[in-house]
Amino acid sequence: MEVIVHKYGGTSVGTPEKIKNVARRVKKTRDAGYEAVVIVSAMGHTTDELIDLMHKVSNNPDPREYDMLVSTGEQVSAALLAMALQGLGCPAVSLTGGQAGVVTEDIYKKARIKEIKLDRLKKELKAGKVVVVTGFQGIDSRGDIITIGRGGSDTSAVAIAAALKAQVCDIYTDVDGVYTTDPRIVPAARKLKYISYEEMLELASLGAQVLHPRSVECASIYDMVIHLRSSQNETEGTYIMSPERISEEGGKMEKKEAVRGIALDENIAKIGILKVPDQPGTAAELFGALAAEKINVDMIVQSIHSAGTQADMAFTVDRPDLKRAVEVTERAARQLRAENVVSDSDVCKVSLVGIGMVSQPGTASKMFAALAEEKINIQMISTSEIKISCVVKAEQGKKAVQVLHKAFGLDKVA
Ligand code: ASP
Ligand code: MG
Repeated sequence: MEVIVHKYGGTSVGTPEKIKNVARRVKKTRDAGYEAVVIVSAMGHTTDELIDLMHKVSNNPDPREYDMLVSTGEQVSAALLAMALQGLGCPAVSLTGGQAGVVTEDIYKKARIKEIKLDRLKKELKAGKVVVVTGFQGIDSRGDIITIGRGGSDTSAVAIAAALKAQVCDIYTDVDGVYTTDPRIVPAARKLKYISYEEMLELASLGAQVLHPRSVECASIYDMVIHLRSSQNETEGTYIMSPERISEEGGKMEKKEAVRGIALDENIAKIGILKVPDQPGTAAELFGALAAEKINVDMIVQSIHSAGTQADMAFTVDRPDLKRAVEVTERAARQLRAENVVSDSDVCKVSLVGIGMVSQPGTASKMFAALAEEKINIQMISTSEIKISCVVKAEQGKKAVQVLHKAFGLDKVA
C-alpha cells in the first residue's frame, strides 16, 4: 500500500474545529486506500506561549528543560488529532518523536535529525492505523527529548516522508502555495506551480517564510517532492522539487523565466567602515570579530579609495543585531586604524531569484534600469548565480518590488 505523508502547521490545527477538519481530510486519504502518516505542529501560538511561561520562571533556562517544555505543544495536537480520527471511526495512534524513532544529535534546542528508525511506525501502519507524529522533536542517544529548531516540524515531515519513501510530502499550511512575491505587496503576484529547491531556499532565507529552510535542504538531499498547499481547500499548491523533475513534469515554460520570484527583506541594517588601511588581514579581523559575537553578516562590499592605500567596507546585518554589530565594528575600527564607522537601519533588501539567470545575461542591468526609472537609488549590490540583491532605502522597498515584478513579466495575465 502506498503511504501518504501530510504535515499540518500550527494555524491548521489551531482550534478543536480545525483539528476535526484535519481529521476529516486525513480520513478521506485513508478511505481512498492509502496508508497515512501525519506530522503536526503545536496548536496556534502554543510554542510562543510556552516560551513566555518559561521566561516567567527563569532568567536562565536550562536547554534540556526548554526542550522538555516546548516539545509538549506538539504532543497536545498529536493526541487530539488521533482522538478526532478515532471519533470518525478511523483507527489512529499518536507517537512522540522518540516513539516514532526520530533520532537526533545530542544537542538541545537545535539538533539535526540523524536517522529514523521505522519499526514502530511500520508496525502501526500495518495494524491499519493512521499514525500521527509530533513534529519538531526527536530523541537523542541519552534518551532525552530534543527539539530541532523553531519551525522544525516541516523538517520532521520531510525526513519522515523520505524514510518511508513516500512519493511526496504534503505540507498543509495557511497559504496556498509559493507566490512570485508577497501578494500583499503585489496583488498581481502569481502562485507558482513549481519551484526548485535552490530557488525556494533563496526565497525562504530572504524572508518568504513559508517553509523551514532545513526542510527544503533535507528534501533536496533525498529528492523528496514537497507539495506546499492550503489546509482550507483542495486546490493544488506549489510543488518544490529538482529542476530535472520540473522539466519532466512539463514545467519547461516556467523554467525559461530568468526571474521566478522577488523577495523583500525589511529586517536588515547597513554598516560602513571607512578608510580602512588596505592590507592583508583587515577583512579577516573585522568579520572574525563579528563571527565571534555570533552576528550574521550578509552582503559585503569593499571598494577602493582613489589613493589606493585605503578601502571602504560596507555590509548588512539583521536589524536586531545592529547595535551589537556597530560596537564590534567600532572596536575593530580602532584596532585597524580605520577612519570611522557609519550605520543605517533605514534600509531594506530587494532580491530577484531564479535559476534561469545563469543562462540569461542582462538580468542585472534590467533590474538596475527598472529601479533607475523610478528614481530608486541602489546603495549596495550583491549577486550569485541565482540571485541579485540590492539594498535600497526602507521606504522604497515595496515600490521596488512592484516595479521589478512588472518589469520581469511576473504579473498575472488578466
Ligand atoms: N511548534 C514549533 C514552533 O513553533 C515547531 C513548528 O511549528 O514547526 O517553532
Ligand atoms: Mg511552520
